[in-house]
Amino acid sequence: MRPWNFSAGPSAMPLEVLQTAAAEMSDWHGSGMSVMEMSHRGKQFIQIHAEAEADLRELLGVPDDFAVLFMQGGGIGENAILPLNLIGRGGAGKADYVLSGSWSNKSYKEARRYGDVAIAASSGDSWEAGEAEQGPWTWFPDPAIWKVRPDASYVHFCSNETIDGVEFTDWPDLAELGAPNAALTVDASSHILSRPIDFSRTGLVFAGAQKNAGPAGVTLVFVRRDLIGHALPICPSAFDYSNVAAADSMFNTPPTYAIYMAGLVFKWLKKQGGIAAMEKANAAKAQALYSYLDSSGFYANRVHADVRSRMNVPFFLADEGLNAEFLKQADQAGLLQLKGHKSVGGMRASIYNAMPIDGVNALIAFMQEFERRHG
Ligand code: PMP
Repeated sequence: MRPWNFSAGPSAMPLEVLQTAAAEMSDWHGSGMSVMEMSHRGKQFIQIHAEAEADLRELLGVPDDFAVLFMQGGGIGENAILPLNLIGRGGAGKADYVLSGSWSNKSYKEARRYGDVAIAASSGDSWEAGEAEQGPWTWFPDPAIWKVRPDASYVHFCSNETIDGVEFTDWPDLAELGAPNAALTVDASSHILSRPIDFSRTGLVFAGAQKNAGPAGVTLVFVRRDLIGHALPICPSAFDYSNVAAADSMFNTPPTYAIYMAGLVFKWLKKQGGIAAMEKANAAKAQALYSYLDSSGFYANRVHADVRSRMNVPFFLADEGLNAEFLKQADQAGLLQLKGHKSVGGMRASIYNAMPIDGVNALIAFMQEFERRHG
């Protein structure tokens, strides 16, 4: 049996997907070529790409007025690509950001290079104190307190803070916040495909693939078509959504192998019963782990219960002096990559779609045993 892999990303892939890719590695469907060896303009890859997009649209119920783009640059690239494309829309050059953890902070700091960018709200302790946006990030600012400028082109937030373990599901209607013309833009990198997405609430959703959708190298961008076509003159052509959309994500050579792998993941997801089935399984996994953490005096998760992430579960040992021993024994028990991000410390279990409940139960059993021996 393979070990259970709790990496935050790149992260565990469904074994079945890896096996299919292995079987097709040197000869895809009798073509005599590996997918890596195919022209992106050839009929085989065009089919792979079209199926991946169709399956993705079907899985998430993406409306027709949204373009689905397969891009490069990852989430961090998109932190620049998004403002370069959107901040000029409407003429005011403004965008507002909600800060709820490490990733939304990074997005905010990058966007400031391209326009008049303000903080709409923050759950950071020192927000009011000025520039030093500091955690700990343990809650999410309720939309009722967001200060949204009516002439902002867009309002951005991160719907799952991978490092801090904060997930926000109740996306607001910006018209109700006084900004009917602003688009809500969302970094959904670490929960994409784990639960449904309400596209009626958003103008743009992006997600790096390397958690729930496949290997690193491709970024999924869902963008409402009326938001395309407003790129700043300095926007690189390859990152201008209008070029990428017009060329069906083939303005430049796309990351063909990553798109193929993501396509295999989409087919696997459909076989599992789609997003509704994944959401149910993810809720059960998270419930099992959080209820164990809450019942134990030996471990603790510090995120407010209403916004605890179903995907990334940070936790701390009461005695931090045991951290190294915990990680060593976990590794020996076949429970890999549990070390928390350096900015938070402690541990983090990432339990994406590819992690079955058996893996979570194995982690809980190990934690109980470790507590028994060291508690
Ligand atoms: N946003 C979120 C929510 C993430 O979790 C990550 C990666 N962990 C990123 C953005 C950045 O992704 P990349 O490293 O692919 O640019």
